[in-house]
Amino acid sequence: MPDTPAPESPLGPLRATANIGRGLWVTLRHLWRRPITISYPEQRREPFQRFKGRHVLDRHADGLEKCIGCELCAGACPADAILVIGAPNTPEDRRSPGERYAKVYEINYLRCIFCGLCVEACPTEALVMSHAYDLASDSRDSLIFTKDQLLVEAPLQRRPADEDLAAGQEVGDFRILKEGLAKARAEAAAHGPRKEPA
Ligand code: SF4
Ligand code: SF4
Repeated sequence: MPDTPAPESPLGPLRATANIGRGLWVTLRHLWRRPITISYPEQRREPFQRFKGRHVLDRHADGLEKCIGCELCAGACPADAILVIGAPNTPEDRRSPGERYAKVYEINYLRCIFCGLCVEACPTEALVMSHAYDLASDSRDSLIFTKDQLLVEAPLQRRPADEDLAAGQEVGDFRILKEGLAKARAEAAAHGPRKEPA
């Protein structure tokens, strides 16, 4: 004997309408809520204070480079992302206070995992991780940052780690002292002319 379908409940269409209404209510509820998305890149969100973004190489207050080309950061990097080639300072071309400076300094952001071990390893606090996170590119070459891109023009101003920041205040471990650039360059000139690496 063939199966006969069960008679449709008179409440079926009502239940379906209620379910549709319940689903639409979820959508309607969010129409008046503050959006959690932003229109990047026109709008930008400030990262957390301890956010680890792309690196910068700092300078001393006199304008000399803090990096002494010791390669400890490269040795500490678990991703083999850093290339440092040191060269000796000379009286005519002094770049850093030590015997050596980094003639070549590159960070490969195709490899970097932003762990910060290189920063920990640096004995001179030359290497700092900034809040810059715009690193997407359609070219592999452009993701290998050279020393020219990493070295700041003026020394960074560092904040105490426990400093409280008011809402809206610039957040970060440092800010670049633009006004210090001219002074730093003038003082660095006292150490002799600086030549760009060949
Ligand atoms: S943050 Fe980590 S992975 Fe990136 S360069 Fe430094 S040590 Fe290497
Ligand atoms: S960044 Fe620091 S650890 Fe790396 S080569 Fe320079 S001084 Fe050495």
